[in-house]
Amino acid sequence: MTLRNGPARCADRVYHDLLTPPDALAVRREVRDFAERALAPIARELAQGEESVALFPRALFREMAGAGLFAIPFRAADQGRGLAHRVSATAVTIEELAYFSNSVAAIYDVHCILAGRTLERGSEAIRREYLAPVIAGTKIGAFATTEPLASTDLSPKALKTRAVRQGERWIVNGRKRFITNAPVADFVVCLAGTEAGPTELVIDLKAPGVSVGPPDRKLGNRAQLTADIVLENVAVPAENVIGAPGEGLRVALATLTYGRIGIAATGVGMAQSAFDQAMAHLGSREAFGRKIGAFQHWQFKMAERATQLENARNLTLKAARRMDDGVEFPEPEAAMAKSYATELAVDMARDAIQALGGYGFMRSLGADGTPYDVEAIYRDAKIAEIYEGTNEIQRLIIARTLFGKELTG
Ligand SMILES: Cc1cc2nc3c(=O)[nH]c(=O)nc-3n(C[C@H](O)[C@H](O)[C@H](O)COP(=O)(O)OP(=O)(O)OC[C@H]3O[C@@H](n4cnc5c(N)ncnc54)[C@H](O)[C@@H]3O)c2cc1C
Repeated sequence: MTLRNGPARCADRVYHDLLTPPDALAVRREVRDFAERALAPIARELAQGEESVALFPRALFREMAGAGLFAIPFRAADQGRGLAHRVSATAVTIEELAYFSNSVAAIYDVHCILAGRTLERGSEAIRREYLAPVIAGTKIGAFATTEPLASTDLSPKALKTRAVRQGERWIVNGRKRFITNAPVADFVVCLAGTEAGPTELVIDLKAPGVSVGPPDRKLGNRAQLTADIVLENVAVPAENVIGAPGEGLRVALATLTYGRIGIAATGVGMAQSAFDQAMAHLGSREAFGRKIGAFQHWQFKMAERATQLENARNLTLKAARRMDDGVEFPEPEAAMAKSYATELAVDMARDAIQALGGYGFMRSLGADGTPYDVEAIYRDAKIAEIYEGTNEIQRLIIARTLFGKELTG
């Protein structure tokens, strides 16, 4: 029994997709077809591999570009699809990808949302030089705020990467850490301190003075390659600033708010995937002469998880709908969706392992090579509670809307 051959999609039976706008609903169907055809056959290899440049799914990335998936989040003026509900459509795209591979969903999230949507705020020249190739898939994007000593705390004092203006260029020095796509990316949208304050700069990774470290080795999300980016006297053209110097933190936080809706969607996709695999097992495996699903313990457990899945998907769509309506920081919904859906993914993956018993703990069975996939979801899901704003910070954001910033700080 393996997901890649497809257990029943339980969401199709119990989820009434009333909240998804029609354009996003069409995208859901399209991306599901794409993922079942192009991603499902390689998802296991991506989940079980070791981090290396060879593991990056380059052929799939090209296929995603060819199918127009990178155009979903963008305006028609930038050669995007120009959808009325592009945030909702992007969220369901990410959910459908994460159902099979959280690595691929994360690659998409960073390439399109973190890098792509930041570039959307750039000048016409930046959009031509970097955003158009992001949508076409001819350049791979990365986004860097994190440093060895700064991440949750991105205050000007914590940020050590510095950019100093010299005539028509910036000279940048620093080290960024855990940067998704870095080993394969063409450019990085990078937060650096300047005299005016934190500033977003687009840096070509082929520029002299840039070096990218070897891929980090991780618990899960193996095909989502991360590495350090070291910047030593890197000259960056003055026009590669997004917005104005000093506006970088606001730009980064707006992008990360959108990103956290994407990470909420990965939580929904992973939770659904683990749920479906647990249901398939509970409906077929027998103990004491009955299907295990006949025991009320599992009926109640799955009823509870189904309710939480419903909540997680609705909350994610609500945050996306508010952003589609023009709200730049749709809080507290985005923070609620991110923390709720990602914790559900971890909890549901752990329950799925329990439901499968010893088989849940297997990568594959020695006796006959049968593959099992829920352990990989458990490994992959954990990072979603950490990146793009840890879940502690999501709670702080929610608390701020309750108590006010004067009290929470
Ligand atoms: C696989 C992976 C991919 C990543 N991709 C990227 C990327 O592409 N670009 C990028 O810039 N970064 C990326 N990151 C970095 C990621 O966003 C950070 O790891 C994350 O924000 C947490 O920062 P930190 O690891 O420095 O932990 P810290 O900031 O040191 O936090 C450690 C712990 O302290 C808690 N904490 C901190 N402040 C508070 C507080 N005020 N109240 C309560 N608790 C608090 C945190 O919640 C956390 O639990 C990635 C990380 C990983 C592992």
